[in-house]
Amino acid sequence: MCSTARRPQLAHLTAALDELRAKGTHVRLRVLDDQQAPVCHYDGREVVNLASNNYLGLANHPRLIEAAVAATRAFGVGSGAVRTIAGTMRIHMDLEEKIARFKNVEACVVFQSGFTANAGTVGSLLGKEDFILSDELNHASIIDGARLSRATIKVFRHKDVAHCEQLLQELEKTPGRKLIITDGVFSMDGDIGPVDRLARLAEQYGAILMVDDAHASGVLGRNGRGSVDHFGMHGKVDVQVGTLSKAIGALGGYVCGSRDLIDYLYHRARPFLFSTSHPPSVAATCIAAFDLLEREPERIERLWANTRRFQGELRRLGFNLGGVTTPATETPITPILVGEGRAAMEFSQSLFDAGVMATGIAFPTVPEGKARIRAIVTSEHTPAQLDRALETIERVARRMGILG
Ligand SMILES: *Cc1c(COP(=O)(O)O)cnc(C)c1O
Repeated sequence: MCSTARRPQLAHLTAALDELRAKGTHVRLRVLDDQQAPVCHYDGREVVNLASNNYLGLANHPRLIEAAVAATRAFGVGSGAVRTIAGTMRIHMDLEEKIARFKNVEACVVFQSGFTANAGTVGSLLGKEDFILSDELNHASIIDGARLSRATIKVFRHKDVAHCEQLLQELEKTPGRKLIITDGVFSMDGDIGPVDRLARLAEQYGAILMVDDAHASGVLGRNGRGSVDHFGMHGKVDVQVGTLSKAIGALGGYVCGSRDLIDYLYHRARPFLFSTSHPPSVAATCIAAFDLLEREPERIERLWANTRRFQGELRRLGFNLGGVTTPATETPITPILVGEGRAAMEFSQSLFDAGVMATGIAFPTVPEGKARIRAIVTSEHTPAQLDRALETIERVARRMGILG
């Protein structure tokens, strides 16, 4: 037996895990044996993969692989330091300049992940005398950043701009800065944040506006420029966060905005100051990815065509994709509502056994009673692969009584 097994000091962890097992929501990590592709192998089983955020198939695109290999040969495997000490390489600056041009902003700073971009930015922009107005379904990294800032957090009902305005009115006579934050695309329901209306509100009340475009980068807007472009709100959003980990296919997060915003983050954002920068291969991969977005917008068209086909067929079959007691999806993120956590996990497991990988999602990631499987198609799924997935989903759902 391993020497650290069953120490009584950690008995509370075992108890917590036993509770998850009893509820049927304890998860085991599935292991990908090959590449993050539309059809691949997890735990030795071939599946149609509807679980990744690899929207545009860039995670294993030959040109990106080539760029990573070439940068590794030229510049090595690691950057050797944090950005502010000695770890800013030319290729990091090239990537940031490329993103800034793409997003039509003055400047950009890249972080190690979308998570650290959010946590580091929200955590450093405000202080304890300030206020954060946050959509109730915003991502965990925003919530953590808000807590780190020590500002007072006011949560508004999902996409409820009138509620956000009411909170701003209540604070009108209170000194302190106000920061409104929304996801551009909400990660569990796939609906789009009201960036246009929040921008008008921010203008009216003099509030700062921040948008987290993790699931909108590469998906929404011209060439995948994100939700600000989708709504034609250039110049109206103070802080735009995006990820390099989803549609861009690699790893990282970035913040776009004014030169001063970025300079300030250089001095105050803790993950930037205290955690080592990306290997040059990652920066090179991302540069190649933005090139592709600019040159091959047809990938994004294919993503949306696959989304319409997949969601249209699921709706026709009678699945609940949200829209009544949960938000209705407007993007490739496809929640198939099941209800109880255990049922969602069992549905996901049965789909996996039948050759379809779609993640089960339960409380606390989504509210109790709104558990689901979450399916994401990519631009690279063929019609035959989507048909195979749809047939399987229908068959398994009928057998389990999820479809009548
Ligand atoms: C995935 C996600 C993040 C985190 O991005 P990573 O690059 O994976 O760390 C942040 N915000 C939202 C809304 C996300 O969906």
